[in-house]
Amino acid sequence: MKKIKTRNPYNGELIAEHEQHSKKEISQILKKAQDTFEEWRKEDISERVALLNNLGDLLIRKKAELAQLITKEMGKPIKQSVAEIEKCRTVCEFYAINADDFLSDELIETEAQESFISYDPLGCILAIMPWNFPFWQVFRFAAPTLTAGNTAILKHASNTTGCALAIQDLFIEAGYPEGCFQTVLTDHNGIEKIIENDIVKAVTLTGSEKAGRKIASIAGQNLKKTVLELGGNNACIIWEDADLDKYISTIVNSRMLNAGQSCIAAKRFIVVEAIYEEFLQQFTKKVTTLKTGNPMDSDTDIATMARPDLAKIVQEQVNESLIKGAKIHTGNSCNKTTYEPTIITNVKPGMPLFDEEVFGPVAAIIKVKDREASIEIATKTKFGLGTMLFTEDIDAARMQIENIYDGSFFVNEMTKSDARLPFGGTKISGYGRELSKEGMLAFVNEKTIYIR
Ligand code: NAP
Repeated sequence: MKKIKTRNPYNGELIAEHEQHSKKEISQILKKAQDTFEEWRKEDISERVALLNNLGDLLIRKKAELAQLITKEMGKPIKQSVAEIEKCRTVCEFYAINADDFLSDELIETEAQESFISYDPLGCILAIMPWNFPFWQVFRFAAPTLTAGNTAILKHASNTTGCALAIQDLFIEAGYPEGCFQTVLTDHNGIEKIIENDIVKAVTLTGSEKAGRKIASIAGQNLKKTVLELGGNNACIIWEDADLDKYISTIVNSRMLNAGQSCIAAKRFIVVEAIYEEFLQQFTKKVTTLKTGNPMDSDTDIATMARPDLAKIVQEQVNESLIKGAKIHTGNSCNKTTYEPTIITNVKPGMPLFDEEVFGPVAAIIKVKDREASIEIATKTKFGLGTMLFTEDIDAARMQIENIYDGSFFVNEMTKSDARLPFGGTKISGYGRELSKEGMLAFVNEKTIYIR
């Protein structure tokens, strides 16, 4: 059986080798998920909520250890890993407070004596997750889905297998029955078979467009529901009245957080020409003060990308854009997994830096004539996760709500996920919503009850 090797991307060190599960072990995992579901679904909501609170507390108690594991496996600066663990607790707290309300029967008046919607769990849900926020992506799915009475099987990105196993242990330590949350260690072929298995009732994937097409087609052939959280190419629009002194740190963070490896990062900065020079000057000044270095150092802002192949892809996207007329403004040196924070100007449609998702610390800057042109160019994309707009003219910003076809529109703030608000995309960024009430109802049977 092929082993899964995890390596520290910052220094190349081998962290661990994990045996993949055999076919027999995968069958046992599936059976356990099903058997546990039969008990778990009948558990009172107060019991499920109590376990969710335990889980949140445990995260905080183990924060330092878990954050180090994230940083070791995928290279995120340690202060960002700590923030990720803290954020996972917020999703536990949110659903602990709201689950009972979200899952209560909803009365609907008809001519019947009684008619209502009952929210029933579906069964075992398969989650296929990426490495970039290896705890957060899993928790934002698992907290509502398990609390709704489902069980879950996680197939994590291979390079964060240690995180996957640590999350499984956390659920057990918090007191969840063993089959509630299980990690499966397998390859893409193994996943295909798991999706086909009758025990799996639905699939959620956070990952690339390519994986989305593949997973959705297998699930579609088996008539199973999918939620797809895929790539993004968010525009960050700067109008001429933007308060740069106030927001420049947020704007830089929106691109450089996690070394630019975020689906909702600002990837295209679309700047109205009246403020262009000032924006470029302030943006560059801030980017050049970012501290690069060892991800384990508490003051590091940018360390390493998660794998050498990911840095190479970014380099190719930049190089092709340069051939097509883009210009290096600052940065652009790349060494194995490290990619210097980079600013590229003169970016235009038809270049990879405009058309494709660029998953690294590279800001593409596009100058436009006016506000109208900024919206026109921002919406010229196949992706639909989110759009940001920086302006002091909130009334004019409101007028643009209907022109943005994405899953979100953030004004004077970076696009971010929040347990209280629905999160998801349109177009090739996927479909379905996580978080908020919508996320909790993603994997339930909204059953109509009618008593005449
Ligand atoms: P990826 O290559 O698509 O991998 C994501 C997950 O899917 C991994 O667990 C991967 O397993 C698995 N996978 C990929 N192809 C598969 C297949 N054919 N069959 C079964 N499993 C398969 O994406 P990534 O490089 O890890 O993550 C970056 C991408 O995720 C970016 O496009 C980013 O925008 C997107 N993302 C989206 C969101 C969102 O909320 N919309 C959030 C974060 C990231 P292996 O590791 O074993 O290949």
